[in-house]
Amino acid sequence: MPGYTEALSTVWDRIRSSISSRVEEVASTYGYLSYMVARYLEILSSWEDVLELLNAFERELPRSIRVNTLRFRNPGEVVERLQVLGYALTPVPWERYSYTVVKPGRVPLGATHEFLLGGYYLYRGLASLLPPVALNPTGSDRVLDAAAAPGGKTTHMAQLMGGRGLIVAVDVDRERFRALRTNLERMGVENVVALRMDSRLVPKVFGRFFTKALLDAPCTGEGIIQLDRSRKVKTSFEDLVRAHRLQVELLRATVESVVPGGLVLYSTCSIAPEEDEFTVAEVLESSDRVEVVDIPLELDLMPGLGEYFGVGLPDGVRRCRRVYPHKHGMEGFFLCLLRVL
Ligand code: SAM
Repeated sequence: MPGYTEALSTVWDRIRSSISSRVEEVASTYGYLSYMVARYLEILSSWEDVLELLNAFERELPRSIRVNTLRFRNPGEVVERLQVLGYALTPVPWERYSYTVVKPGRVPLGATHEFLLGGYYLYRGLASLLPPVALNPTGSDRVLDAAAAPGGKTTHMAQLMGGRGLIVAVDVDRERFRALRTNLERMGVENVVALRMDSRLVPKVFGRFFTKALLDAPCTGEGIIQLDRSRKVKTSFEDLVRAHRLQVELLRATVESVVPGGLVLYSTCSIAPEEDEFTVAEVLESSDRVEVVDIPLELDLMPGLGEYFGVGLPDGVRRCRRVYPHKHGMEGFFLCLLRVL
């Protein structure tokens, strides 16, 4: 039986035949490739929502910080020091150590003493905080971070674990791996072993060892167009399929590294169903050792798609969560929590 990867060629035929003159006109007004806008109409169902999404991609995202309790026991101390520098910060209601920057201060956030001392991690959008919160590792977990660099989520998980337990943080890219090491050092993280290797080899090296795993997958970044406008035109459908194939291999390897009963959190900074629901569906279809479970987040996120251009997706996929810039005020993001059986 052909799987979800093969179904992407049917999807592509249907995308092409859905490119109407209205799609072309809107794509040209906002500077996008037409096939992208045709997909947004399929995902969101109404032109009103599509235009809201495209307008949201035109707006800057506020920066945010996560105060690092591994360096500063009292998070209030870091907040007060930033206030002295002129910053105004508002707490993020669902992450107790994080703040949105509502007014900039006199010194850039990446150059304050507090930053250099590892007092906080700097984010370009709040959605990056979601995967560690959703996976919620504790000091008794053995965690795999299968795509870790530059370490935003590794250092966040280390903090949630109170510096106890173990994280194996893997990334294949030499430059990014260097940035990961620098961040681990700056943030005073001591429960992380960092390995520069291809995550697809992790099950061969470790077997089923981890109680929890995060795969914050390499993706086309179709959720972070606010941060990089070149993404409006640089991704072809073939690029999406290539990303999907790599994600499937990485997700399979991540699932194979986790003990029965353990959890895997799959995330992307993309709203592309090809990299999100189709990746999860392909892995679900080829393995009866994994199921999608609800994400324990008290946030009004959107469910995963049940169907895309006439291709039905497995039931469980609706339990995944989509984050949209126009609905949630964050970068576009996708989250899926899987339990290994
Ligand atoms: N989780 C990171 C964070 O929060 O800072 C961001 C990860 S980024 C979205 C995806 C990462 O996957 C990139 O750093 C890339 O180098 C890495 N990557 C790509 N292919 C890989 C592979 N085969 N094995 C391990 N890492 C890989």
